Amino acid sequence: MSFDVAIIGAGPGGAAAAVALAQRGVTNVALLDREGFPRDKTCGSGLSPNALKLIQQLGIGAKVKELGYPINAVRIVTPGGRELRIASDAAAVVLLRRHFDHLLVERAQSLGVTLMTPFRADALIEEDGRVRGVKSFEGKEVHAKYVLFADGAHSVFSQDQRPKRSISTLMGWWENFESAPNTLDMIFDKDVAPLYGWMFPETNERVNIGICVDGQDESGEKSTKNLRATFEGFLERHYGQRLASAKQVGKWKGHPIVYTTWVSHMTRPGGLYLGEAARLTHNATGEGISQAMESGVFAAEALSSVLQGGVKEEKAWGAYVQRHRRRFTGAFVAGHALRAVIASPVLDNVADMYNQPLVRKLVVKLLGSALAGSAVNDRTA
Ligand SMILES: Cc1cc2nc3c(=O)[nH]c(=O)nc-3n(C[C@H](O)[C@H](O)[C@H](O)COP(=O)(O)OP(=O)(O)OC[C@H]3O[C@@H](n4cnc5c(N)ncnc54)[C@H](O)[C@@H]3O)c2cc1C
Repeated sequence: MSFDVAIIGAGPGGAAAAVALAQRGVTNVALLDREGFPRDKTCGSGLSPNALKLIQQLGIGAKVKELGYPINAVRIVTPGGRELRIASDAAAVVLLRRHFDHLLVERAQSLGVTLMTPFRADALIEEDGRVRGVKSFEGKEVHAKYVLFADGAHSVFSQDQRPKRSISTLMGWWENFESAPNTLDMIFDKDVAPLYGWMFPETNERVNIGICVDGQDESGEKSTKNLRATFEGFLERHYGQRLASAKQVGKWKGHPIVYTTWVSHMTRPGGLYLGEAARLTHNATGEGISQAMESGVFAAEALSSVLQGGVKEEKAWGAYVQRHRRRFTGAFVAGHALRAVIASPVLDNVADMYNQPLVRKLVVKLLGSALAGSAVNDRTA
């Protein structure tokens, strides 16, 4: 089978690229995934204001609003145990990845993209130093003028030899859990610093709760922290009473989140890397859905400029990398600053002054925007 574009991985990055290509008139596209859809993905399933903007552009905004659980407030607990509540006008949504990823894949199919599952990409087809397609573990071959690599954190085709920096996670799901309506928790517990634990409501009764911690120590060695014991302690400290009357659904699950500060190794002759396969996640919040979708759109724009606009591949690939650096480097550097703040007493001091209107306005603008990834205005009564 032969296509203009083959996309390996139909998560938010790959599926957004497929939709954005089709929106630009490139529909001879194969979207390949090792799993059939709908499928589960271990994730908090939080869609930030930035993600919602992209979802709108990709044409599934109304469906996501209809199926998702709206969030308009964040309860923050500082390392010293103080609480602050940021109510903002920048609404977010929680929508289980099983449903969200499927919506995006269905949208791509409705625009003429060919979905092929199960297709576990196993080896590349190469010719004259260019990638020309992909072979599956099951023995199928897909030939294409261009290949997009959107196979996530464990990308088998990444050419990035730099040591991987990652965030380790562990999470679970509970029903009949009492929580304030439309409010998510970010808990900057000392035990998981400089990262955090979260509680994201998926419906009025069901929530997911998880922790993220550094996957490596300062020297880059794999962390020896016992994640399960850390999670047990976290749950007991912050949700012990409420969990006693809630019902756990399924088993705890974990998955690494791979990040970088300086994006690199995003191109090869005939191919582009995007989303978490290119390490595009936020190092302080672990957010990766909006970055994956945005890089999928950038990839579609680069490819359509080559396929339809007569732009030379080398020029388009160079612009693709630059565009990512302009878009993400500032936020990724700010992520390290946010980690430093979280590891210091600053957050506790800020919480002590939070009742002063001017301080509150500033905190909502700075902290709220850093966490949400876009401008946030105070809505607290
Ligand atoms: C516990 C946890 C919580 C998180 N919470 C959030 C959150 O609330 N909000 C947020 O924005 N981000 C969150 N993230 C990050 C987010 O899940 C990822 O960054 C995001 O899914 C990356 O999208 P992607 O499309 O690049 O990759 P993925 O979503 O990982 O998709 C990759 C796809 O490629 C397929 N694939 C992989 N290998 C192959 C192969 N060889 N052949 C064919 N197909 C293949 C996979 O089946 C998958 O469908 C969380 C991550 C974790 C681990």
